[in-house]
Amino acid sequence: MMKKTFTRSIHLSSFILHPLYFMKLLSSSLRLARIRGVEIRFHFSMLFSLPIAYFLFSPTNGREIIAALLWLLGLILSIFLHEVGHAAAAQLVGVEVKSIVIWLLGGFTNLSRSSEKPKHSLAIFSAGPLVNMLLGFFFVAAYILIFFWFLPFERNAELFLWGQTFANLSFSLALANMVLVIFNLLPIYPLDGGNMLRSVAEMFFGKSNADWITLVISAPLLLGLAAFALLTRDYLLLASCLLIGLAVGTLNRSFLRRLNLGINYLFKRSGYYYMQGDFERAAQGYTRDIEREPQQGNHYLGRAGCFLNLMQKERASADTERALKLNPNNALALQLRGEIFMLEKNYPTALDYFDRAQAIHPNWSVPYFDRASALFDQKDFHAALAELDKAISLPPAFPLFYVLRSLNHFVLENFEASRQDQDSALRLSPSDALVMTELNLQIYDGYLNWADDYYGRILTHDPRHAQALQGYADACRANLEFFRAVELYTRALAVNPREASLHFGRGKCHLALGNLENAKADFQQVIQLTDKLHLKRQSEELLKAL
Ligand SMILES: [Zn+2]
Repeated sequence: MMKKTFTRSIHLSSFILHPLYFMKLLSSSLRLARIRGVEIRFHFSMLFSLPIAYFLFSPTNGREIIAALLWLLGLILSIFLHEVGHAAAAQLVGVEVKSIVIWLLGGFTNLSRSSEKPKHSLAIFSAGPLVNMLLGFFFVAAYILIFFWFLPFERNAELFLWGQTFANLSFSLALANMVLVIFNLLPIYPLDGGNMLRSVAEMFFGKSNADWITLVISAPLLLGLAAFALLTRDYLLLASCLLIGLAVGTLNRSFLRRLNLGINYLFKRSGYYYMQGDFERAAQGYTRDIEREPQQGNHYLGRAGCFLNLMQKERASADTERALKLNPNNALALQLRGEIFMLEKNYPTALDYFDRAQAIHPNWSVPYFDRASALFDQKDFHAALAELDKAISLPPAFPLFYVLRSLNHFVLENFEASRQDQDSALRLSPSDALVMTELNLQIYDGYLNWADDYYGRILTHDPRHAQALQGYADACRANLEFFRAVELYTRALAVNPREASLHFGRGKCHLALGNLENAKADFQQVIQLTDKLHLKRQSEELLKAL
């Protein structure tokens, strides 16, 4: 069983991985309530709001303390209503809302999926700042009302002071809402402005370009903002920048991947395409890299990873051999060479290569995982489990480790442990845990009952979970259950109509069932929708053969 872990470990370098553990620690939030199926949570950063309120007001008497608390309450309410704006817009365009997390600088609305249409995302992301704009007007009106129609006529000194307090309160809440508007509209991902920028970029330049355009604009702006804060000694703004930096990881894990993608796009085109799953284009990129730097072993390994994903084993092993000739102690090359032997069911040689890789990097999780895969393939489930336990105790951790251990537990009828591992995999990354690459589809082969359990659990809670539907459909296809697969692909396409890989999978099922017209329609859709070269080419070849 070949895993994509190897090739991912080239691109997911440790500086990306270690912050993840740190972020996980910081991402804790407290559940407050559940309103119409939407969870309301408070992020830990809200703890900072009390000292900030104290610092801003430095109250000296009871009235000032009340004013400071009311201000804080008003601010939290403004942030909350901002999120309610996002949530309401999402529900309007048919996207289910899971939770609202309130954090110091704006909150976060957790959607069950992102909307397919950029104009829908644009509506969702602009609804929040719009709410703050309206609140800003409301507080300005309250201020004007108190200042011009109450204070001039009030003779009681105590009431006058309270009136003044409320006027000031309205004024600063109006100001706070304006700050929220301006701050959230900054075109820095993952702020609303950054997301709006991404939607607009997607409208004009397509999805894959939108990601790096957003990154290229966001990153320098955030750095610039931090530099400005430092120069003006605005420590609150500096803290905000720091928090955005952290929030990037705590509130939206996919940003780290996007950051990695962006770095790859700017400096390593081939790596960018590889991470996008555009393997043929990535292989072309690596070929150019090799022409430029023929002594650089990692270029050969990158290309070998592409060839493997394109199911071209011979070319993949030729490239790993070249990398090993350049450096016989290249642990990644040894590991990949072993994985190819494993694919060819040459287990003793594969295990020998894994041992050699492990001798070089004793505390690397991947050799343990690969050894577990080999043992699992040979149905030595107890031994495989022991190796998986070791792999999971070592860095780096991949969702696939937990997926395989869940499967292993399931086979051994430890159903409780199996489900715990399913949950762990999903926590690491739902997309990687649910949808296997074409190369990893064999993991399902013969284990459809496990897939029923795994995907069934998610789909009972959320029948429209696009990734669960896709993974489940792939699992049925791998087990030659084409009727069920077609039904699941169709359900997934109802949620995510522009996903080419769904059309590709369904087309293959139709082909196997002999529904040639349907197969034709699906492959034509793939050609229209995908920008991945190999998917396009394979669909064209299948169409020609029809
Ligand atoms: Zn927002």
